[in-house]
Amino acid sequence: MTADAETTYPHQIMDGLYQLRVPIPNNPLGWVLPYLIEGKDGWTLVDSGWNVPEAFDALEQQLNDAGVGFSKLKTLLVTHIHPDHYGLAGQVKERSGATVIIHQRERDLIRSRYRNPEQLLSTMGEWLQTHGVPKEFTDDLKTSAMPVRAFVDPVDPDEVVWGGEKIEIGRFEFEVWWTPGHSPGHICFLERGKKFVLTGDHVLPTITPNISLHPQQQGNPLGDYIASLKRLEELDVEQVLPAHEFKFTDLRKRLREIEQHHEERLAEMMAAIGRGQATGYDVARKVKWVTGTFDSFTPWMQRAAIGETLAHLDYLVIEGTLGKFVHEGVQYYKKPGND
Ligand SMILES: [Zn+2]
Ligand SMILES: [Zn+2]
Repeated sequence: MTADAETTYPHQIMDGLYQLRVPIPNNPLGWVLPYLIEGKDGWTLVDSGWNVPEAFDALEQQLNDAGVGFSKLKTLLVTHIHPDHYGLAGQVKERSGATVIIHQRERDLIRSRYRNPEQLLSTMGEWLQTHGVPKEFTDDLKTSAMPVRAFVDPVDPDEVVWGGEKIEIGRFEFEVWWTPGHSPGHICFLERGKKFVLTGDHVLPTITPNISLHPQQQGNPLGDYIASLKRLEELDVEQVLPAHEFKFTDLRKRLREIEQHHEERLAEMMAAIGRGQATGYDVARKVKWVTGTFDSFTPWMQRAAIGETLAHLDYLVIEGTLGKFVHEGVQYYKKPGND
């Protein structure tokens, strides 16, 4: 997943637009790629990094090397509130006084996820049991995301967006595209005239973002995600600037690959249900994962795998391909007609 090894950061993409690279220590993702955009009377930063000293120092150094520093930052745009994008938002705000802009749906999650998570923890425990996680594992699984709270310095946005807004920054005019799926209020920024798009975690060059059902993300996240991918198919862009890995050019090809990936996963999940009935937990343990077997995963990865499995299973239910029912407080999936 290395980009061009020769690239140094800040890396100029074009006049007035830089790509930064901020490390995510001890994490297979390696780094996040914030973007720095020159405005008429100040600069805009898109995403930040984890709230850890290595990330802060790298961000500060690269801002300084670009001749910007915190003092000239006017705006912070956040694609979504996951720790690798939003973790340093509080620090950036404090150092620069920048206006922080986040989608409304993400803003609504800040309090329950990062400030007062107690209610979410108990809901999460019940939710995991409903999906078949044995009681002895629920405590580890439900608290597994708590350590990442330390990597977030939360700040409330000064402004929210819904999608569809235009944001003018110097020579650039960005359209805000609401692309739910990976996170309920994920946004991308399209520069139609200059033919590039900042895709956040929505579209990455080789890896696929986690699409999960979650007590705070009900409904049909995978359906939302696939619809968000399809909406981007019409875009006429020459550069795709994602938040991880590296920049790339062929957006349509990548969109098709990701759609294909989810089609294959859906087929695999159907096969895992077999002729009987299965919980989300059963299916998550049965299907293949590129990073190892389910039982070898850390509790945090297991929870991500369960969430991802459930997003696929509920997608199949909403499509009418699978049925689901609750028995003694546990939710099962089965193929229609297999009674
Ligand atoms: Zn993310
Ligand atoms: Zn990310």
